[in-house]
Amino acid sequence: MRIILLGPPGSGKGTQGDLISQRYGFPKVSTGDILRLAVRGRTDLGVKAESMMNRGLLVSDDIVLELVRRRISAEDCRRGYLLDGFPRNISQAESLEKLETGRPERAVEIQVDFDLLVQRLSARLVCGQCQAVYNLNVQPPRREGACDVCSGGLVRRKDDQPEVIAERLKVYKKETEPLRGYYQAKNMYHAVDGQGTVQDVYLRIASYLDAALAEAPGLKDEARR
Ligand code: AMP
Repeated sequence: MRIILLGPPGSGKGTQGDLISQRYGFPKVSTGDILRLAVRGRTDLGVKAESMMNRGLLVSDDIVLELVRRRISAEDCRRGYLLDGFPRNISQAESLEKLETGRPERAVEIQVDFDLLVQRLSARLVCGQCQAVYNLNVQPPRREGACDVCSGGLVRRKDDQPEVIAERLKVYKKETEPLRGYYQAKNMYHAVDGQGTVQDVYLRIASYLDAALAEAPGLKDEARR
């Protein structure tokens, strides 16, 4: 099974993706994480992607598609996987289906009010070493400026600066939101309220996916509980 997590920047896809991936035993494939790793490693691809990312714009479909193709052909994705941050537009969604035809899929959109997204993204810090994510309002580190996990220094993502946040939300509306209609038309779409605690949102997503798995035995075979 392929689980696609849709939702604007700051909606909690990364956090929920980790929890859902643990629940069903599917790896989480985050194109944002893969790209940031490439940027940090100064690979050719990372160097190409960096300026688009820093400006809040989408990296070219060719680059992202190649990264996804490589990642989902790995052995651990054979039974299923969860996508976070991909597809980001209709063309990527169509390419994904061509890449792997016939894989059953479900798209879950995490919906959060615009004002709250801006608040969340503005309060986000990440560890420069292990990439653990914090939020100064709801999940601050125990010691100011230091990671709870590895004591690394906490930094703001370059694309979490106010003007870049505004650009990313604009790009989301224009490029990514049309995926809602795309998956609705295929009868594979479900929306959840992304407000409330992490646990509240997790239970909403899991109860939908549990029901989807119960209804479609073909999906269930692929999930480990
Ligand atoms: P994210 O961590 O998902 O917010 O992604 C961070 C940035 O990586 C985005 O603002 C884009 O510049 C780039 N990116 C991530 N996923 C994609 C994608 N599927 N298509 C194009 N660009 C992407």
